[in-house]
Formats: sequence, structure tokens, C-alpha cells
Amino acid sequence: MATILEPGQIEAAASSPPFLHLPPNNLFTLRALRLERLADGHPMADFLRLVAGLCHAQQHLMDNPPVAAMPDPERLRLCQQHGLPPFAADSLVRENVWLPFLEALLQRYQPPPHSAVENAVATLRGANPGLLKAWAIALVSGQYSMLPVALVPFLGAALQVAWSHWLLRTPNLELTRGDSLSQCPACGSPAMAGVIRHRGKYNGLRYLVCSLCACEWHVVRVKCVYCEQSKGLEYVSFEDDRHAANQAPLRAEVCPGCNSYLKLIYLENDAEAEALSADLSSLMLDMRLEQEGYQRPAPNLLLATDER
Ligand code: FE
Ligand code: FE
Repeated sequence: MATILEPGQIEAAASSPPFLHLPPNNLFTLRALRLERLADGHPMADFLRLVAGLCHAQQHLMDNPPVAAMPDPERLRLCQQHGLPPFAADSLVRENVWLPFLEALLQRYQPPPHSAVENAVATLRGANPGLLKAWAIALVSGQYSMLPVALVPFLGAALQVAWSHWLLRTPNLELTRGDSLSQCPACGSPAMAGVIRHRGKYNGLRYLVCSLCACEWHVVRVKCVYCEQSKGLEYVSFEDDRHAANQAPLRAEVCPGCNSYLKLIYLENDAEAEALSADLSSLMLDMRLEQEGYQRPAPNLLLATDER
């Protein structure tokens, strides 16, 4: 079927797609509200509500960041000049600059009393900076066996706010594509999921969402972001009475070439969807794909897993 373009659309189609889509300042509130809505009637309701509480604490921190907690501007300038991710997670996580964000989050967040969560928060409050950094290094490099599982969501939450804060508070960022399609141009971390956007100049384009800083970068559709092949890709979704398979708001792009998959969120089919909440509320799909032998390279920093 032929598509008729309006004059504005012809211009948009002729120019190359915008490389970046930055998250909104209220990202963490959006995540929290969405998680609260998804929790109703969900088999993992308690977990989703717990993460929602954490996201509210993240937003408070985003709105009230610790003073002077910014990376060295000269370093940011040099990285951009050389086409490197200015907020490279593997090096910045070794510095002290993110620690005030964790401290502030632990002050703000009120864990439910007498819970495992309370113990995790107490462990983090009592740990020295060297140990906190060792755990954070393990987390951002995907070595989940190197830190206590219960600490992951809280440490991950603090790191996410620090990196999103830096991303959104640094003017005139010039970001360059990473070495791999799945690598964030701002911080070098792997993508958490992809979003097929549906409005204005972004309509129909795929953006990958960073697991750490929430920066979004454009990657063409129908291409495995891990091995860059298009052959044999399949799109797998939940069995769901509400949506036909080709209209499911969440589908995994499964690649037979490298045996990996990436979750995609289709805003056209659910305009309110958001990547982190969509990911955490669809873990049944991960279990099914894992059973079928597929790997998931995409981390979610608020969820500890053995495999990722
Ligand atoms: Fe990033
Ligand atoms: Fe692949």
C-alpha cells in the first residue's frame, strides 16, 4: 500500500533521523507511576511497588541533587573531542563523584520496617567507600555474582540518578556512536531495551534506552543490535487477549544468529509505556526465552540476575 506523505513529513523523511532522544526531567516519576499502575493485579505486584517507591526516591534526588557532584568538565571536553563517551561508566564508577548520590538516596529512601530491604539499605549505609565502589564496579560491568544480590536495586538506583543528572545537566553535549550498536554513546553502558517511538520527527524510529543514564540513541529497526544481522529475526510477545501478536506493545526481537534477544516497546500500541517499567513487568517473557535457550545481554540495574 502506498503511503502519502504530507509536506512536513517529506522534509522529515528526507533528513536523517535525530541520533539522540534525551529522557525527560521527570523520568523517574513516570517510571514510578507506571509501575504502580502495572502492579495492580500483577503476579509480582509487591516487587513492582517496591521499585516504584525507589523510583520516587530517585526523582526526589534528581530534583534535589547533591551540590557540586559533577564530573571534571575538562575530562568531559576531552572525551567529546575524541568521540568517546563523556560519562564512561567503567572509569567514573571508580571515582568518588557518584558517592554523594548514593548517600542522599539512602537518606531519603524509607525501607519497609523489618524487611530484607531494610537489611540491604543498612548494609549499604554501613559500607565504606572502597567497598561501595567495588560493588558498583561489579554492577556496571554485569558481574552480579561479585556483589550481594539484595543490594543491586539500591546501588543501581543511585547510579542511575547520578548518570541521568550528569547527562541532563551538561549543555551542548556532542555524542558519537559507540563501538557497538547496543552501547550508550553517553556512558558506554549496554542498552536496557528498545523503544519504537510514535510521534513527530521520531515516528516509527527505534531508540535504544541506556540501562544506566537513560539516554536514547537511534538504531535502525529489524537488525540485531548484538551481531548486526537481520536474517531470521523473530518477534516474540506474550499471549494476550487484548492484543494481536503484531500489535503487542512489548515484543522481544530474537536473533537466531547470536542466540540473543532485546525487548522492544512499541509506543504506537501503548503510548504510556516506558522501558524500565515495561521490562520489569514482563519477566515472564524473559523466563520463557531463557527456557528456550536464548541469552539476554541487556541489563536492568534495578534487578539482580545470575545470568546477565
Ligand atoms: Fe548511558
Ligand atoms: Fe544477533
